[in-house]
Amino acid sequence: MAGTDHLYSGSRSIPQRTMTRQYVGALDSGTTSTRFMVFDRQGQAVIQAQKEHAQIFPAQGWVEHDPMEIWKNVCEVIRAALQRGDLTAQDFAAIGITNQRETTVIWERKTGLPVYNAVVWQDVRTAGICAAWQADGLEPEVSRVTGLPISPYFSASKIHWILDHIAEGWSRAQRGELCCGTIDTWLLWHLTADQRFNTDVTNASRTMYMDLQTLAWDPGLLQTLGIPECLLPDIQPSSHPEAYGCTSLQGPLAGSVPIGGVLGDQQAATVGQTCFSPGEAKNTYGTGCFVLLNTGREIVRSQNGLVTTVAYAFGQAPPAYALEGSIAMGGATIQWLRDEMAMIATAAESEEWATRVPDSGGCYLVPAFSGLLAPHWRSDARGVLVGLTRYVTKAHVVRAALEAICYQSREVLDAMQRDSGMPLASLHVDGGATANDFLMQLQADIQGVEVVRPRCAETTSLGAAYAAGLAVGYWSSLTELRENYREDHRWQPRTAPQEREAGYRQWRKAVVRTLDWTDPNSR
Ligand code: ADP
Repeated sequence: MAGTDHLYSGSRSIPQRTMTRQYVGALDSGTTSTRFMVFDRQGQAVIQAQKEHAQIFPAQGWVEHDPMEIWKNVCEVIRAALQRGDLTAQDFAAIGITNQRETTVIWERKTGLPVYNAVVWQDVRTAGICAAWQADGLEPEVSRVTGLPISPYFSASKIHWILDHIAEGWSRAQRGELCCGTIDTWLLWHLTADQRFNTDVTNASRTMYMDLQTLAWDPGLLQTLGIPECLLPDIQPSSHPEAYGCTSLQGPLAGSVPIGGVLGDQQAATVGQTCFSPGEAKNTYGTGCFVLLNTGREIVRSQNGLVTTVAYAFGQAPPAYALEGSIAMGGATIQWLRDEMAMIATAAESEEWATRVPDSGGCYLVPAFSGLLAPHWRSDARGVLVGLTRYVTKAHVVRAALEAICYQSREVLDAMQRDSGMPLASLHVDGGATANDFLMQLQADIQGVEVVRPRCAETTSLGAAYAAGLAVGYWSSLTELRENYREDHRWQPRTAPQEREAGYRQWRKAVVRTLDWTDPNSR
């Protein structure tokens, strides 16, 4: 495995003294919470602080966050972690940022205040805008340039919607009065003294404006969609000693620390799992589930409903690409059972209920609550609970919810193997829901593949720390990062292939029942 010096072409201008500093920090601004984690050279988390933010649901299918609340929480968690560890800015060689992707904020250049709430990746209010773009025949060009299908999931239609719904949105954007970014850009702007207006290549690859080959905004698409380039941040490598500047003295770190890396959360998890070789894959079980397969320097175009994306770009080196399958409702299905259905008191209780029964009693839950993402891409789908009889109990439904997470993962993993021609040797897992041992066994059984969980459950934060630490020479090579990897547990499949396939056949029938549910006239 290569060292990193060639990745940065000797451009590291970070003072020597930062390399002797003890820690690297990672700011992880996720869908439901923000955390700040402090890592040592072995990749061990030494301190962390975390805070949830409000999920705002103004209408069916709409999901928003308050960008000011996220910024406030960022300040709080950083200050809390520093206090807990008795640390100051001087203890950090660098910090990295990782974030929920696609979620879009537009703010005023002059005041730094948002003009509207952040429109979250799960939000499907823009299905109509996307349908119109599809009717205009834009899909082949969008897919060729960006590697993405047209979907409300990506930032482009969200930006369009916000500009349509604020006073003089389009003309203010044209005049350069507004800034638009994903959460990384929003936080970077506020964290840096010189209000850096940048994003990294992995976040940019999720907007639906970036050319996968040139790694720049595509002028043709911007023109077709009417987006002025001054509205958008500059695209930078995911790991770089200078691109993201330093934290401001007035900010939560109260000192100047280089921001060495920025990565979208799923790409950060891929880096945290050290999936640096083509053919290595990880699945993160958080709010959603996200499977990424490293395809190396090759841009693999999916024939099976996956997305082509940038995995990471370190320094001046060419980027690594990935095939991705995104599932909107992963752990959020369990949250729904807890918060909306009151079936369980805690997410962990799902394990207890599911293990009271030997199977799901013939019932299937397909949580297409805001449509289906990969590999179906159907925003007209809605959730179903099918196969109900008087025999079905709460325990069966809870088990069906956990099975749904695994079946959805299987759909994308199967598509990935078809696209890449690479059989899956094992599946590296991370994210909050991997605390559920039963869910992990279920995944091994439903996929028929070994499931491996690392000791560090916070691989997303770790990946951001790795990107930042590499940039400033805190870690010297990818090999060093690989050596930090520690396995926690491994699950072997226990089901017979026949049983596995019979369950999967029923699941696919259940998925068909979700389709074509919403009324196209009221979308
Ligand atoms: P995110 O980073 O997307 O906010 P996390 O990685 O923190 O998500 O994981 C939180 C999700 O994991 C929640 O949706 C929660 O319901 C789910 N979860 C947490 N613990 C368990 C568990 N023991 N069993 C099943 N799901 C769980």
